[in-house]
Amino acid sequence: MEDYRFKRIDCLAGVGEARSALFEKKGIKTIEDLLYFFPRTHEDRSEIKKISDCAAGETVCICITVFSPVRENRIRKGMTVYNMTACDDSGAISVVWYNNRFVKNQFMTGDKFTLYGKITANNRGKLEMINPIHEKAGKERFTGKIVPIYPLTGSLTQKVVQGTMELALKEAGRLNEYIPDEIREKFNIAELNYAMKNIHFPDDFKSYSIARQRFVFEELLVLQLALLNRKHENSHADGIVFENTECVRELIESLPFSLTGAQKRTLKEILSDCSGGLQMNRLVQGDVGSGKTAVAAVAIYAAVKNGHQAAMMAPTEILASQHLETLNDFFRGTGINVVLLTGSMKAKEKRLAYDMIATGVADVIVGTHAIIQEQVTFFDLAFVVADEQHRFGVEQRAKLAAKGHNPHMLIMSATPIPRTLALILYGDLDISIIDELPPGRKTVKTYAVGENMRKRIFAFIEKNVSAGTQAYIVCPLIEETEKSDLQNAEDLANRLQAIFPQFFVGLMHGKMKPKIKDEIMNGFAAGEIQILVSTTVIEVGVNVPNANLMIIENAERFGLSQLHQLRGRVGRGGDQAYCILFAHGKNEVTKKRMETMCMSNDGFYISEQDLKLRGPGDFFGTRQHGLPEMKIANLFEDADILKQSQDAAALIIKEDRNLTLEKHRGLKRRCDKIFDNEVIMN
Ligand code: ADP
Ligand code: MG
Repeated sequence: MEDYRFKRIDCLAGVGEARSALFEKKGIKTIEDLLYFFPRTHEDRSEIKKISDCAAGETVCICITVFSPVRENRIRKGMTVYNMTACDDSGAISVVWYNNRFVKNQFMTGDKFTLYGKITANNRGKLEMINPIHEKAGKERFTGKIVPIYPLTGSLTQKVVQGTMELALKEAGRLNEYIPDEIREKFNIAELNYAMKNIHFPDDFKSYSIARQRFVFEELLVLQLALLNRKHENSHADGIVFENTECVRELIESLPFSLTGAQKRTLKEILSDCSGGLQMNRLVQGDVGSGKTAVAAVAIYAAVKNGHQAAMMAPTEILASQHLETLNDFFRGTGINVVLLTGSMKAKEKRLAYDMIATGVADVIVGTHAIIQEQVTFFDLAFVVADEQHRFGVEQRAKLAAKGHNPHMLIMSATPIPRTLALILYGDLDISIIDELPPGRKTVKTYAVGENMRKRIFAFIEKNVSAGTQAYIVCPLIEETEKSDLQNAEDLANRLQAIFPQFFVGLMHGKMKPKIKDEIMNGFAAGEIQILVSTTVIEVGVNVPNANLMIIENAERFGLSQLHQLRGRVGRGGDQAYCILFAHGKNEVTKKRMETMCMSNDGFYISEQDLKLRGPGDFFGTRQHGLPEMKIANLFEDADILKQSQDAAALIIKEDRNLTLEKHRGLKRRCDKIFDNEVIMN
């Protein structure tokens, strides 16, 4: 029999070309892929309730006989209610469907069904079952069972996925375990066949939880083995040696400020890497405004003074040109030649830049991902800084590294994440943390407000801007979306311009050409634009010290780390800075999230809360980190299993560094697979 791991799903009954394509959209090609497509939740249809035992709020399964046929009741345009009376030997209940004309001919008086749905009390206090799922008596598939509910795409229905999954389990037959027995025993991890059945079609919830535990463990174990492997490869590459690191003193002394303790420590770590003989792969994590760029600049200085070239890569053109300015400031009078390379430059300008880069006339190259295009050849690239790395995939980093002979890689991230998690996510990197802000920084005063405060907030804008400062207003969307009352940037900009004819209101969004965005950003930086309405394109890095007011529309739409990042755009000058969060909805989680923003300015703390409050999936839109998406593990809730899997990974690596032993073959294969589907950003 062909190995299920590689067998394509179209061998299953009912899976033709169209369905294959739908599954493939979810990344599912083989039977194994399908088996690892885990349910998002389960419905408990294992217990049949008596109608007389049902209570409002419960979701239950009942076995009924149709007592009266379905009546149709058009309440208003676009809203038709269908209802029937159903009974069992304990009582009767009204069953209601909204806008589902199909039920009319499905339920005939006297027929028997099982219904699964939510019980609510209607406005007269009588119990009803709303929009239930039904199975005809004698033809039940899921009645009496715990039923998997899958995350769906397109026109794949639960029924199709559930049925296909049953077939896939049969087709696969016996699965080969690949977590070694001794590891499973040591960490009390369920066997693969048991786990696979019970993750999809559990006998009871206890079995499900045992199964889930196994796959969380497996997922984290494989991830860590894969990362440890990479770290191994990276850290053994020979590196260019900077003989003279003392030279940085002269630059540091010329700076208009003295470095913070955390900056000094980080710099020491970087320079020690660069003079140690091995290639550096280091992540610098630091809150917004902690001075990462200054650290990078000093390290770049060391690279150039040791006779090499350095490159700095930014995720947007705006940031690239800001870095150009910053570096030119830092390097004034040193004779260091900084050259810009971005995608929107004219062909002629680009050619000139290529020449300077290839001949070594350019000491430092600052740019966007234009830097990693094929045409770019470096004279002697020894040091690479990738700024705000959450926008870059691992692949892109690798491409950049290939432009030199194992150049040292410094990755800077302004998205603080909980420390333990940083170790996994960046398992392939060494980590420095700048956990100290330069002295004298005032915290940004933050307030969450509702729509009723809008007038007062506008007055507040007027007061501040009249006093000579500037304001950012960030909206989640650009275009009008139907039936949505989200603030859209364009409308808001027009509205504000009408309210404040005395100020210049600018508009910037992601669909503008880079050149236009640059012009607007430069206009804002120069103070010509006083109020800048924008989408999140300003999120990363941009530095305009005179802006002291950040207003965020529909703040409930953003992740906390993102809000924190946006807030970091203000409070860079001497004035007290403010951040106003317009938040809608009374939802508890939203409330807690806004409270967190108001009470804390600490990015590390905020990221932990975000992870906790938003739960699985969301926080680690892991693609941002160049890592595969977690299929089942929740990096916050599963911290214990995480720890176990870390220990297990260490044991395995200790015994078999490259996973070459026979008993590790299955694990090795899954490790190799993990980065296959990696999504490359940009
Ligand atoms: P980050 O990139 O970490 O968000 P930046 O490097 O852009 O932060 O620094 C923010 C601002 O703080 C810049 O204007 C920078 O010149 C300034 N700065 C950096 N280090 C120090 C320091 N040690 N003391 C005072 N100001 C500093
Ligand atoms: Mg920065």
